[in-house]
Amino acid sequence: MRAPSCYWGPMLFSELGLIPPLMSAVAAEGYVQPTPIQMKAIPHVLAGRDLLGLAQTGTGKTAAFALPILQRLAERAPRSNVARPIRCLVLTPTRELASQIGESFTTYGKHLQLRNAVIFGGVGVDAQKRALREGMDILVATPGRLLDLANQRLVDLKPLEVFVLDEADRMLDMGFIHDVRKVIALLPRARQTLFFSATMPREAQQLADQLLKNPETVAVTPPSTTAEKVDQEVFFVEKADKRHLLVDVLRDTTMSRVLVFSRTKHGANRIAEHLEQARISAEAIHGNKSQNARERALANFKAGKIRVLVATDIAARGIDIDDVTHVINFDVPEVPEAYVHRIGRTARAGATGMAMTFCEADERPDFWNIEKLTRQEIPVVEGHPYESKIPLDSKPPPKPPQNRGRGGGGGGGRSGGGGGGRRGGGGGGSRGGRR
Ligand code: AMP
Repeated sequence: MRAPSCYWGPMLFSELGLIPPLMSAVAAEGYVQPTPIQMKAIPHVLAGRDLLGLAQTGTGKTAAFALPILQRLAERAPRSNVARPIRCLVLTPTRELASQIGESFTTYGKHLQLRNAVIFGGVGVDAQKRALREGMDILVATPGRLLDLANQRLVDLKPLEVFVLDEADRMLDMGFIHDVRKVIALLPRARQTLFFSATMPREAQQLADQLLKNPETVAVTPPSTTAEKVDQEVFFVEKADKRHLLVDVLRDTTMSRVLVFSRTKHGANRIAEHLEQARISAEAIHGNKSQNARERALANFKAGKIRVLVATDIAARGIDIDDVTHVINFDVPEVPEAYVHRIGRTARAGATGMAMTFCEADERPDFWNIEKLTRQEIPVVEGHPYESKIPLDSKPPPKPPQNRGRGGGGGGGRSGGGGGGRRGGGGGGSRGGRR
């Protein structure tokens, strides 16, 4: 992975003071250098400090907390005399994130005698109850299911030593704040708290102020910088041609692990079916699929058994897949920030990646908004077989407001301004042909 850019040169894991069992687990993962968030956070967490970490998924954030937590738990005897007390709780918004964090603790802690378990909703509760009875050192959980089990007195959080609140901004976005507060009420006051968030809206700041004592703050590059490592391009195409264009671009066999985003669940199914008909291995994941089906699809994609995973934004939250070569926005996201999240699925932890956006005429205002937000002009692919015949500088049709339910300043109001500099038919940053 790319060297962290510090003026004293790249840092090595061996300089972070991690114990040998962790060092060998890290080496087995092929990590050579810590990522910037790991460099900055690990020493503070090892020193027992509270931490405010401004970092998003994909920066190596999980190891930034999991490694020093494992080390602290391994070095000190539990402070409770309960048989196997829960010493660390990681609260995270989605089940995908919860399982990935659990897997990370297992991977990094494989030479230690610490146990972890994962608890989330939407699946049977029996195995989770059993795990709680057997005991664990580290519990990774989503808030709702954790509260259910705590209300049944199956979870004792009083012996806790370390509390991690992961993806706090998303937790707030998803409406989990009340559940989070109820969980916090179950924790002991004397504890170490680590608070991670990609952004710090006011409510997140308020929560951090309540939770953290004299914290160290560490921040890593914001999403727009991450996007710089992603080559981006846009295809202007009409709706009915998008699926043909998709099959066409996928003729390029270097596109080996492709994540396609669809705005809707039905759309995701249709895309996957169309690809299968074109003999391109694909599966769809979204909220209507069972947890098992989603995990299976994800595992097949990770193992390279399927080339294309089609996902909705919600389903893709927190998906951690290494080496996604391409992200394709089959639909332009209505919320421009979602674009940054989507393309952040490629080029993770320092690799480079590629993002393609298929934009139909009435999505153009949303696309211009993305360029505005990310302050860039995304190169246009010209001369592809499904190029839209509608000139770029033509006024886009007004959007029907009822099925474009975004709050705030959305709607047709923006469409009139659609011009902007380059819309005169692909001058400037445009690139001919397709790679
Ligand atoms: P995260 O931000 O925790 O979701 O991590 C993103 C990805 O980066 C994961 O797939 C990790 O396996 C990988 N990763 C984390 N730390 C490192 C590192 N120091 N070197 C290389 N890859 C890493």
